[in-house]
Amino acid sequence: MNPTIEIAVIGGGLVGSIAAQCFAHRGQQVTQFFPSNTDRSTIDYPLSLRPSSRDTLEKLGLWSDDYLITAMRQLHLSSEGCFGMVNIARDNNQPAAYVVSARRLMEHIQHVIQRQKRVAQVNTSINRVDDAQQDIKIHAADRHWGCQRLVICDGTRSPISNQLQIPCTKHPSVAESIVCKVTTSHWSAGSGYVRKSRDQILGCIPMSANSGWIIVTQLAGQFDAELSSERQLVSLFNRCLSSRIGQVVDCEIVSNQKSILQSRAVASHEKMILLGNASLSTPPVGAQGLNIAIQDCAALHKLQQHFPWHRSTSKAWGAQFSADCQPRHDHWFRQMERLLAHLRGYGTYSRVFERTAWALLGVSQRAQHQLEALGLGYG
Ligand SMILES: Cc1cc2nc3c(=O)[nH]c(=O)nc-3n(C[C@H](O)[C@H](O)[C@H](O)COP(=O)(O)OP(=O)(O)OC[C@H]3O[C@@H](n4cnc5c(N)ncnc54)[C@H](O)[C@@H]3O)c2cc1C
Repeated sequence: MNPTIEIAVIGGGLVGSIAAQCFAHRGQQVTQFFPSNTDRSTIDYPLSLRPSSRDTLEKLGLWSDDYLITAMRQLHLSSEGCFGMVNIARDNNQPAAYVVSARRLMEHIQHVIQRQKRVAQVNTSINRVDDAQQDIKIHAADRHWGCQRLVICDGTRSPISNQLQIPCTKHPSVAESIVCKVTTSHWSAGSGYVRKSRDQILGCIPMSANSGWIIVTQLAGQFDAELSSERQLVSLFNRCLSSRIGQVVDCEIVSNQKSILQSRAVASHEKMILLGNASLSTPPVGAQGLNIAIQDCAALHKLQQHFPWHRSTSKAWGAQFSADCQPRHDHWFRQMERLLAHLRGYGTYSRVFERTAWALLGVSQRAQHQLEALGLGYG
């Protein structure tokens, strides 16, 4: 058997890589496992990161302006019809969010990790984890390793969590999101646009004066068949965009994927934790998946400073990590459940759901009052 690993991370996505850097930054040896066919470059989409996420990436040496697309200072919101002009910029005129390219972020993080002496990367898929003994055993097709602590970051389907029979709470409704890259007549970079109708949420993120992305989210199976055509999508977008904001000239569908809402406890086993989509997987609407995972990584990084995982009672460490992270996951899961119920149109067009929907989109209480004053958003 190969020598015992201190910390093993399964998964080579954004979250596995950020987690590996968290441990390495605190002086620990990490081995990261992911299959060599891990797709790191083909699909690009905009990721909206909170200022606190940027701070964490900066602290870990993972931030670069090279992957920044725009600093979002304004969010324009509306219910039905054309976009409203509600400004939810933070009081001190600091950006409300930093929009980055998912592909360039991944490339940058990989570049840093490959130069990080404390992270060893093994290009192999893990088939099985055996937690019956003192050390955890990790099995690939032709090799196996022992490890003291394990971080599972293997994405939404999380084959390792399934094999270990880690319980999963699922919401039955599945959302579908079409991500489009668009060319526009004129847009204002630095602003985002959100249009929420009863059964659909449209988020527009300008990249430059005449290009950007639009993400349409709806319950799976409820998309109008015609919306799979790029021409029909352009027509939908232009019904929603006022000419003041700009018109969509052309659109290319970048991806059309189903996303689910499911949750697994962050620390259900004393020597293992789950991060990223393996733990909380949500539809992209609300722009939270990575932000929540980065908050978890920040908690982990802080905890490692005075209370290193592999040198402490793993039970106590797990309990602390769970106390730091689980309430945030549970809160978000409940919010998302309400949003899906709202999109499904259960019961009346309830004010509670309406408020929740706006809150999910990052709209503060103050902005909700502004919306109310403008007669927007409360149907
Ligand atoms: C269109 C879109 C827009 C989004 N916008 C935002 C946003 O604005 N803000 C935000 O915060 N979040 C956003 N998200 C969510 C964010 O992208 C995800 O939360 C994040 O990328 C999840 O990363 P992950 O590493 O957990 O999972 P993944 O990227 O799925 O990585 C899983 C990794 O595990 C590996 N793996 C799987 N099985 C095994 C195995 N058996 N052995 C070894 N390795 C294995 C895979 O190869 C892969 O490398 C968005 C998502 C989408 C799709």
